[in-house]
Formats: sequence, structure tokens, C-alpha cells
Amino acid sequence: MSEQNHKKVIIIGSGPAGLTAAIYSARANLSPIIFEGDQPGGQLTITNDVENYPGFEDGIAGPELMDVMRKQAVRFGAESKFEYVTKVDFSSTPHKVWVGDKQYTADTVIIATGASARYLGIPSEEKLKGFGVSACATCDGFFYKEKEVFVVGGGDSALEESGYLTKFASKVYLIHRRDEFRGSKIMRQRVFDNPKIEILWNTEIEEILGEPDQGGVTGAILKDTVSGETREQKIDGIFMAIGHTPNTAIFTDYLPTDDNGYLITKPDSTATDIDGVFAAGDVRDHVYRQAVTAAGNGCMAAIEAERYITENIE
Ligand code: NAP
Repeated sequence: MSEQNHKKVIIIGSGPAGLTAAIYSARANLSPIIFEGDQPGGQLTITNDVENYPGFEDGIAGPELMDVMRKQAVRFGAESKFEYVTKVDFSSTPHKVWVGDKQYTADTVIIATGASARYLGIPSEEKLKGFGVSACATCDGFFYKEKEVFVVGGGDSALEESGYLTKFASKVYLIHRRDEFRGSKIMRQRVFDNPKIEILWNTEIEEILGEPDQGGVTGAILKDTVSGETREQKIDGIFMAIGHTPNTAIFTDYLPTDDNGYLITKPDSTATDIDGVFAAGDVRDHVYRQAVTAAGNGCMAAIEAERYITENIE
């Protein structure tokens, strides 16, 4: 293994967790390499304005925030690679990471591959992402003051986000494909008790209507999952809350996950079961899922990686 391909810190993933880990480990003189993956900047790059990231009084566009974070990391010596890690081997030290045929070794690996919101998978949805189709009520709810929105899903996320969106929207239609919710009893009751939420049981979205350059989402074609009948309804925005999938596929041979597929870390730490391997951000957090919590987590991972190197390698 050439010197060049051995790193003290390899960071996999480039959302707020990965880039913050890069800033901290670069400032600690660890010359990290960050593999940005197939969505450089992560989930924030599909959000419009980020208004709740501290330090930006007037908000900042998601892609711009991630760009600034990347530049900050590079300024301190992080190496950013727009490449996708295809394989890892954590069975012995140094840990091994592959990008296609190219192999790297590392004293520490910080996994920050995030989670991807699930979408319905229809073409009109893809076209209107960021133009009225969102998977983040906390990010985008504010833009729907006195407007009508759909929330799709029947789990705790959909129930919680429906309630949250009633703070802004004049009406929330909760669309669920079955006739009972998967979400918890207390959350169900909150939805039933909220006069601004109307539940559309046994309903699916068949098509989303609107054009990105003409104001975005204008409505949807809804299908009754029992009768098969379809109808059109006008709507201003659609929030998908049908779950997230943590991006862990290449790690699960080595690292345990919880029942929802998220990587498990030690309490109050980003350390995994494997020495020198840390996990930060949404890949291990299905509770908060915020840019600022992911960034905080990335900072923790970098500090823990630095301590690990000082105590075990140098
Ligand atoms: P989830 O529990 O997996 O629920 C996903 C929901 O989306 C289900 O109701 C499912 O319908 C529906 N769905 C999935 N694919 C669909 C599709 N293609 N079309 C239409 N509907 C679809 O996911 P989640 O709500 O994000 O929750 C994930 C975990 O986080 C859960 O353990 C949850 O308890 C937890 N969580 C907790 C809180 C809280 O306690 N405050 C808040 C949020 C999340 P079916 O029911 O028909 O399968």
C-alpha cells in the first residue's frame, strides 16, 4: 500500500456530518480525505432555503450551505473527492476502503452516509422535488402559510409532520394507503383531535400535477385503494413521510444496526463496535435528523477519531 493511499482519517459521506467531521479533523492536522458519494452535500442539496441553521439570520440555500462547508474543510487541508465508496473491510487494521478498484487504508473511518427519504417513485414526483414536493416538514413547512398540503404516510413521521404542518397550513390532508395507522396511539389521537387535519384513508397518489417553471405543484390524482376509483384534487404542496432508508448497505457485514436499519453507536459517542470506526449523522440517528444535529455529531466523530489516533496509532 503506497503512503499516498493510507490516510489517518477517511470520511464517507458529505452532508453536514461528513463535512463537519472534515473541518474538525483537518484543523487537527489529520489531513482527512472525504468521499462525497453520489449526492455531494447530501439531503440539504434537495432543499430550497434552510432557515433554521444557526448563524444565517436570513436563511441560506441548502446547496450553498454545503458548498461553504466544503470550502471551509478544504481550506484547512481536507481532500474532497467526488467519488463513491463501493466496499469496505473492517475485519483488521488498518481499515480498508475501496472506490471501485482503488483501495485505500485508514487508521480511522468516519461513516456519514446519511439516510435517504423514501419517495413514491413516480416521474411527476421526481420532476417536482423542491417545487412543492418535499420530504422534510421541518425544512419546508414554513413556506405553506395559509396553504393546503398533503402528507403521505401512516407512521409516526406522517402523524407528527401532519400536526407540525397545521402550524402553517390552513388545511392538512393526511393520505394513507390503508384504513389504520402504523404510528403510535398517542400520535394517532393527536391527529384525530386536530380539526385542521382531514384523513383520506385507503388513498394513494397516482400522479402529481404541476410544472416546476409554473409555480410547482397544483394538485394530484388520487386513487382509492379499495375501489380503484381516481379523482383529482387541488393542492399547494405534498410532503412525503413514508420513511427513510439509512445508507448502510456496504457496512452491515461488519456493523450492527437497530430494528430500523440505523447503525448503532455507543451511548453519548459516535464510536461503533469496531475500534477506529465512527458513525455520525442520519446514518445513526432517526430521531432528530437535522442539519445542525448531524453537524454536531460530525464534530464529535472527528474529536473521537483524533483521540483514538493519539492513543493507539501515534
Ligand atoms: P414507518 O414507520 O416505516 O412508516 C412509513 C409509513 O409510510 C407507513 O404507514 C407505510 O404504510 C407508508 N408507506 C411506505 N411506503 C409507502 C408507499 N410507497 N406509498 C404509500 N405509503 C407508503 O416510517 P416513519 O413514520 O418514518 O417512522 C420510522 C421510525 O421512526 C419508526 O420506528 C417511528 O416510530 C419512529 N419515529 C418516531 C417518532 C416519534 O416518536 N416522535 C417520530 C417519527 C418517527 P403501511 O403502514 O401501509 O406500511
